[in-house]
Amino acid sequence: MQIAFIGLGHMGGPMAVNLQKAGHGVAAFDLSQQACDKFAAAGLTIAASAQAAVQGAQVVISMLPASRHVQALYLGASGEGGLLAHIAPGTLVIDSSTIAAATSQQVGKAANAAGLDFIDAPVSGGTGGAIAGTLTFMVGASLAQLERARPILEKMGSNIFHAGNVGAGQTAKICNNMLLGILMIGTSEAIALGVANGLDPQVLSEIMRRSSGGNWALEKYNPWPGVQENAPSSKQYAGGFGTDLMLKDLGLAQENAGAVQAATPLGGLARSLYAMHSMAGHGGLDFSSIVKSLQKRGD
Ligand code: NAD
Repeated sequence: MQIAFIGLGHMGGPMAVNLQKAGHGVAAFDLSQQACDKFAAAGLTIAASAQAAVQGAQVVISMLPASRHVQALYLGASGEGGLLAHIAPGTLVIDSSTIAAATSQQVGKAANAAGLDFIDAPVSGGTGGAIAGTLTFMVGASLAQLERARPILEKMGSNIFHAGNVGAGQTAKICNNMLLGILMIGTSEAIALGVANGLDPQVLSEIMRRSSGGNWALEKYNPWPGVQENAPSSKQYAGGFGTDLMLKDLGLAQENAGAVQAATPLGGLARSLYAMHSMAGHGGLDFSSIVKSLQKRGD
């Protein structure tokens, strides 16, 4: 199957590579020349533009930073002249970016009007999951659209959940990331408290991992440098999931909570703490670097 893949960042690049490894033809594109060069070196065929990438494609996948990028790509900057007009009717469009559910529904409606199938399929699992092909997909689609997408998603992920209709994948994703943002702050706070009392962060992390405080951050993504060799914390917080992307997701969760009048006190506090962390100049670092704002100098 011929696939157009738009957005070759930390996540999209490795996902496109996995599709090609699985035997699909992939025409890839990113606005950043640096990203194109990096993945051309990894063996991907780079198209001259997004319009060129979708020529002859049966499936189009996008993996972009935020709502405004997805709107600009598919609908065009002024609401007209976007990529949708260049995609052949009958094509399946899968957007895996984490964006507002309302934006997924807006783009989905325009795609349907152009005779296209559109689904939202945001992911969880981080850059490690993107490289290993073990992502979790949270899909907003009809059952028929989900089954159409499943063989493609299975080449990039190992868990595929049907959350509901278009937009529902995004809602599930922001609920998950709000919880993750809160968990990362709580985990950081607990380790910092232990270290301030003279405990070894490695020993304390292991105690909590196997006790009732055990969670994903302690399992796979420990925020304290040196505790887990492969975690971003042990690589000066480079790569991984950026603080500004977490801030975006916590903002989406708050917008959504406002719209349905839900109480999300810890989600609101977490958003403010990540905003302060970003304003302190850490927006480009992995989100687990939030521990820096809780660590005593010298610990
Ligand atoms: P990234 O910033 O590394 O990559 C995004 C890429 O999109 C960039 O290379 C950028 O140049 C490109 N781009 C933007 N607009 C474009 C356009 N119109 N046409 C072509 N390319 C365009 O981001 P990422 O870390 O890969 O994350 C992508 C999405 O996945 C985000 O919505 C993020 O919230 C979500 N996500 C990220 C992670 C993670 O661990 N990094 C995990 C789960 C979900």
